[in-house]
Amino acid sequence: MKSIDLNRRNFIKKAGGSLIAAAAGSSLALSAMQAHAAQPAVTQTKQTQAAVTPQTALQMLKDGNTRFVQGQMLQRNLMQQVKATGSGQFPFAAIVGCIDSRASNELIFDQGIGDIFSARIAGNFINDDILGSLAFACAAAGAKLIVVLGHTECGAVKGACDDVVLGNLTQTLANIKPAVAAVSGYDSDRTSKNNEFVQAVTDKNVVLTVERIRERSPILRGMADKGQIGLAGAMYDVHTGKVSFNA
Ligand SMILES: [Zn+2]
Repeated sequence: MKSIDLNRRNFIKKAGGSLIAAAAGSSLALSAMQAHAAQPAVTQTKQTQAAVTPQTALQMLKDGNTRFVQGQMLQRNLMQQVKATGSGQFPFAAIVGCIDSRASNELIFDQGIGDIFSARIAGNFINDDILGSLAFACAAAGAKLIVVLGHTECGAVKGACDDVVLGNLTQTLANIKPAVAAVSGYDSDRTSKNNEFVQAVTDKNVVLTVERIRERSPILRGMADKGQIGLAGAMYDVHTGKVSFNA
């Protein structure tokens, strides 16, 4: 304790030595602490959803991931959000992600109850039922943005690279095979042992999934063309917690 006191005294001396300087220092420290205090989350309503654009929705997810990475998540009373959203939901975005236990959409984007639609399937691809879910999210329920979210170290992508055969999983992995085929090169090793190859396939899978949403859903394509919704690809790094967006 004694040495800390001495250091503080020295610090104040260096900073000017006067009481005014010390007071200014502590008020700066206080405002810095207040800036880091958890801010309360806003529960989405019809009004807040109507004010969101595809661009602001993207920014909201980027900001949420930054908060997550920095450990500065918004303060939420989840049961209060349950009560507030019970009679109606107004989410601002829909995310197609993997089932991976490390890639929970709500957690990594610091979102709460009623904020985002979450479609999760091993390998984050789309089929008719996921497309139908996205049509519901955007055309019926007002979401302004669709994000296809891949992630590093994806077991489903690795399985597709290795031609894994395992009951129903075989058919699931078939949906990722076009991405494997679309990545050329890596001829020395096109298996899950080659991390660069796996990541190239993971990136390509996101790009192809975004393209397929446009190709296979006239409703969503029309909304995107009119600027009513945005469509973006993104990659979650399971080592750092960071999401990088293509857009
Ligand atoms: Zn995965």
